Amino acid sequence: MEKKYLGPNKILDKKNEYLIPCSYHFYDKPPQLVRGEMQYLFDSEGKRYIDFFGGVSVMNCGHSNPDILDRVIAQMKELQHTTTIYLTEPIVRLAERLSVVTPGNLKRSFFCGTGSEANEGALLCAKLYTGKNQFLALNNGLHGRTHLAMSVTGIGMWRAMPDPVEDINFVPSAYCYRCKYKNNCGECGFECVLDVEKSIKNCTAGSISAMIAETIQGNGGIITPPKGYFKVLKEVLERYGILLIIDEVQTGFGRTGKMFAIEHYEVIPDIMTMAKALGNGAPIGAYITTDEIARVNTSPSASTLGGNPVSATAGIAVLDYIERNRLCEKAEHLGAKLRQGLLELKEKHKIIGEVRGLGLMLGVELVKGYMAPAIKETDAILEALKDKGILLGKNGVDRNVLAFQPPLVIGEEDIEVLIRELDGVLGGF
Ligand code: PMP
Repeated sequence: MEKKYLGPNKILDKKNEYLIPCSYHFYDKPPQLVRGEMQYLFDSEGKRYIDFFGGVSVMNCGHSNPDILDRVIAQMKELQHTTTIYLTEPIVRLAERLSVVTPGNLKRSFFCGTGSEANEGALLCAKLYTGKNQFLALNNGLHGRTHLAMSVTGIGMWRAMPDPVEDINFVPSAYCYRCKYKNNCGECGFECVLDVEKSIKNCTAGSISAMIAETIQGNGGIITPPKGYFKVLKEVLERYGILLIIDEVQTGFGRTGKMFAIEHYEVIPDIMTMAKALGNGAPIGAYITTDEIARVNTSPSASTLGGNPVSATAGIAVLDYIERNRLCEKAEHLGAKLRQGLLELKEKHKIIGEVRGLGLMLGVELVKGYMAPAIKETDAILEALKDKGILLGKNGVDRNVLAFQPPLVIGEEDIEVLIRELDGVLGGF
């Protein structure tokens, strides 16, 4: 009888033959994942995994969440796609909802298919509004794969491109654990922001339209600025007429204990971008801005699949689910438990250099000797946890940061299992 699944080895063979080699994967011995159920994933052998990565911060409401699926499937049966040149209802309903849940006077949305496109759109919008063409971006940031989005990305491994867009100035991010000024975190007067101002004054031609920044740098290694950082940054930018574009592609939709991570910093961005968890697996991206900034963006533009009835319905269902099930509060509460567990492990295991993040977006930077990145060890820990039925993420400029971004529907007991197993695995290092 033919087997139901190809299995990992045959998938690897076909991947090696038919996919462009840039599509890489985790693990020496990766499993074939075949099914998801809220915070759990199952492989082709029937083994269950607790998913602590959530498809890179996408599955905030859980895998195959029945409440969301029912509404998406009903929409698929009714009307799938028309493009935005015809009138449909879900896109305007979602836009109205986003205007309510996003901070301040952010109100008008443009929908597309991915986070990269959302950032491209936001950068274009900033250029149109300001009439200026330069950008500021942060070291260790990641904003996507398209030409401009990749050009504002400050991580070598994710900007494999011979000809990045010119006119982009990179400035230091608030990576306090490796503070280049050797300051104590939060007691420093934000020297990294003073450097932004120096850069604006000395290294640019005075024609900067916007600065783009993730609230927490996900791929950079869950780099989490101290309280007050964005306020000081925004003040500097405003003095020079520069817009702030906040990329909430990884941090949005309840992940950090608030609907958007920037709310922790009490700053209202001029433009905000989102994707990933907005669709909980359905492809959708968007940028949202104010009436004033949107006013200049009038040339016809359409993203074929952007805000189509199916993905917009998924977005509305996600917002409903987050609100009804109080996922923001849940992320805050469970995040505190996970953080506490990780901090206790830090006391026991020297390899843990720092535990950081907000809510259920936490990172553990692994080091050896004097803060040298523990790169091979990170891979070995990831592999060992996978064998024990736990999937974790990995990021950081040196790929030495364990990333904890589980579905927000995870249970306390899942966290207890993770801490116990991680404790056992770390004991070997
Ligand atoms: N911004 C951030 C912060 C991201 O993490 C990513 C993807 N990891 C993107 C943008 C790009 O999103 P997409 O892959 O949907 O284009």
